[in-house]
Amino acid sequence: LREDPSFWMENNVQVVIRVRPLNNSEKNLHNYNRCLKQESAQSITWIGQPESRFTFDHVACEAVNQEVLFRVSGLPMVENCMSGYNSCIFAYGQTGSGKTYTMLGEISELEVRPSQDRGMTPRIFEFLFARIRAEEESRRDEKLKYNCKCSFLEIYNEQITDLLDPSFTNLPLREDIRNGIYVENLTELEVGCVSDIIKLLIQGSANRRMAATNMNSESSRSHSVFTCIIESRWEKDSASNLRFARLNLVDLAGSERQRTSGAEGERLKEAANINKSLSTLGLVIMSLVDQAHGKQRHVPYRDSKLTFLLQVATLKYHIIVFI
Ligand code: ADP
Ligand code: MG
Repeated sequence: LREDPSFWMENNVQVVIRVRPLNNSEKNLHNYNRCLKQESAQSITWIGQPESRFTFDHVACEAVNQEVLFRVSGLPMVENCMSGYNSCIFAYGQTGSGKTYTMLGEISELEVRPSQDRGMTPRIFEFLFARIRAEEESRRDEKLKYNCKCSFLEIYNEQITDLLDPSFTNLPLREDIRNGIYVENLTELEVGCVSDIIKLLIQGSANRRMAATNMNSESSRSHSVFTCIIESRWEKDSASNLRFARLNLVDLAGSERQRTSGAEGERLKEAANINKSLSTLGLVIMSLVDQAHGKQRHVPYRDSKLTFLLQVATLKYHIIVFI
């Protein structure tokens, strides 16, 4: 796997494939066959009829652990934010493919001690706070100071709920010249260390909506968005400078199709909206890639809550797709 933050400077959208290990019930199936073969650090073959080979920016096989995945995709995002770029990581894949494991990992254990299984989000903030301390130290003469604020929300059925205060549901998305795009009344809390983050993650995750489907009894049919706004102030040549960068960490709803999850009635209506956010996200990313290649493209940000909210963070994207 390529561990090179500078790779990001030329590649604003990158896709990482993560293959999770087989779980016990999969291993217990008679005659199970693996349907994937990794060819290189960038390509994978689907062993089907006909066999197909796919190429991505990175392919992380099942032996790649949380630490390595963080170094490949989380660390460069922190470096982007330290340079003042907005950045975003999406976890996309079917229910049960490892999105939450990758983004959060076992967070309940983290209150007690750091666990090897901790995911991208706690690792990102460990690194971010260490980088901030080092940066403030080395630029003391400029009086450099950082200030970080976090929010945690859920988009379910095209409605926004504040995961840090779930009595606030169906929050409106607003846009004005002063604030740009923002969620009205969303809780934003100042954070200064990793344990502040862990508390917010535990609190917010407990408020996530769960609904049973055929694919996974605890499947989440909502998108969750953890955002950190990193503000920095410094003085240079008797001028005061202020910079903002936004980091969005998104755990998307399961990408499975309706016929595999047996949804009916209300569930089916939800699914249509969930798929609306997912399909709009796909269209937005494809349009951005085309733009990066010099083509004129309309980017349909306004077609879903998720893409409308995240359009302020379009400078760098990282997408992790699971198989
Ligand atoms: P999703 O959020 O995509 O529905 P989860 O993250 O809940 O899926 O993962 C489903 C199960 O598989 C969980 O029990 C999780 O701990 C396990 N799992 C997922 N990815 C890995 C991995 N890379 N290594 C070990 N266990 C994993
Ligand atoms: Mg999940």
